[in-house]
Amino acid sequence: MASPPHHGSDDDPKDRTWPARFADHLAGTDCPMCANDYTAQDIGWGLRLRVGEVSNAYLWRSGEVRGYCVVIYTARHVAEPTELSTDEAAAFWRDTLAVGHALESHYHPLKLNYLLLGNAIPHSHWHLVPRREAQHDPAPGGPIPFTHLDHGKQDEEQLQRDAATLRSMLAT
Ligand SMILES: [Zn+2]
Repeated sequence: MASPPHHGSDDDPKDRTWPARFADHLAGTDCPMCANDYTAQDIGWGLRLRVGEVSNAYLWRSGEVRGYCVVIYTARHVAEPTELSTDEAAAFWRDTLAVGHALESHYHPLKLNYLLLGNAIPHSHWHLVPRREAQHDPAPGGPIPFTHLDHGKQDEEQLQRDAATLRSMLAT
């Protein structure tokens, strides 16, 4: 397992800087995301739900938002989605929407957020974040601060149960 993703803190953004070796990682040199074992069912950060056309989907282990998933482009190192051919981009989006459909069916979120950022690890990956009614959502009406996705851990039993259900939904 590579070092966990780090999305900075809620401190003053001006106090932050880009991660160490960010330029190398952009270019695909020692990219932490490329270092994952994509044949594994569990990459430490999350449980694999599906091997798609060009990406793998994971139910993420960190954070407090149930159903938080990450879809990682696995065909090669890609920093910006603009580096993809139109066929590759379409396949990446098909893979991502398949996970979106499963999350909608399983969790019935109020809204599903799709974030492609790459400010911590510049390798194309989507964050899929189910959003819920105000009393069950950490930041209703706006973007979710990444601390809610990075800090803490999901309940492991619930995570395993959800992963099993989502895997079977995505297998059909
Ligand atoms: Zn990479």
